[in-house]
Amino acid sequence: MARLHLIGSTHEYGDVFTYRFRPQGTLSFAPGEYGHLFFPQLLRRFTKPVREISFASAPGDDEVWFTLDHSSGSPFQEHFRSLTEGARMQVFGIGGHLKLPEDPARPLVLVGGGIGVTPFRSILRHLRVHQPQTPVALVHAARGDYLFGEEFAAMPIAYHRVGRAELADTLAAVADVEPPAAYLVAGSEAFLSGTVEHLRNAGVPDDAIQTDAFKGLHDDATTAVTP
Ligand SMILES: Cc1cc2nc3c(=O)[nH]c(=O)nc-3n(C[C@H](O)[C@H](O)[C@H](O)COP(=O)(O)OP(=O)(O)OC[C@H]3O[C@@H](n4cnc5c(N)ncnc54)[C@H](O)[C@@H]3O)c2cc1C
Repeated sequence: MARLHLIGSTHEYGDVFTYRFRPQGTLSFAPGEYGHLFFPQLLRRFTKPVREISFASAPGDDEVWFTLDHSSGSPFQEHFRSLTEGARMQVFGIGGHLKLPEDPARPLVLVGGGIGVTPFRSILRHLRVHQPQTPVALVHAARGDYLFGEEFAAMPIAYHRVGRAELADTLAAVADVEPPAAYLVAGSEAFLSGTVEHLRNAGVPDDAIQTDAFKGLHDDATTAVTP
């Protein structure tokens, strides 16, 4: 169990906020992983003061970043929204569903729906330092607000911001690459099922696709995609 304290927050858009924490001691995680964020002092106030949230920062960064969508208005989200500088939080049960390919020369296609792009900020910041030679395309599907858009646009990657209507064609275009790419997809379950279907239609084999489902995420918060 790691302890962190809040050092600041940024309003991204709508009900989406990014929180910057500093850990006490070392916090170990791999790029693209998530942790269980926990407020033990809330156990008497409501039943589940814990949520799985992806790291938006990379392991070597000075600050630990999390981005949350508060739109459900649940007690957990309202508590998080009210945090002030110095607030304390715990993180445990760190794990992940996304794994970088062993071969750094293998192209990587990252596909995020809405706030599902957060683990890719972690991965991209890690790659920039440790694997700058890996060719990367990032496809971000959203409804008009592109989280971390300026930072991604300044990176040496192929960065595609798309809406629902352009997603299938964009995926077909980025899938036309040699050697064959590895595909990492993150977002709501509805986004994942539509996107995987698009990738299959573009001839991508299932064993080249990894998914990270943001289970429980309010569905309006991301881009549900119907193939
Ligand atoms: C691997 C992973 C990474 C995530 N990363 C982020 C992130 O970076 N930012 C972010 O805002 N959210 C993220 N989420 C979603 C987050 O954990 C919360 O579920 C979400 O923020 C909604 O919380 P809530 O308090 O608004 O709603 P909740 O009160 O948690 O519930 C909303 C609805 O979803 C259901 N539900 C909740 N959790 C689960 C679950 N684990 N499995 C199935 N159903 C469930 C509830 O029964 C309810 O119907 C992630 C989830 C996972 C699994």
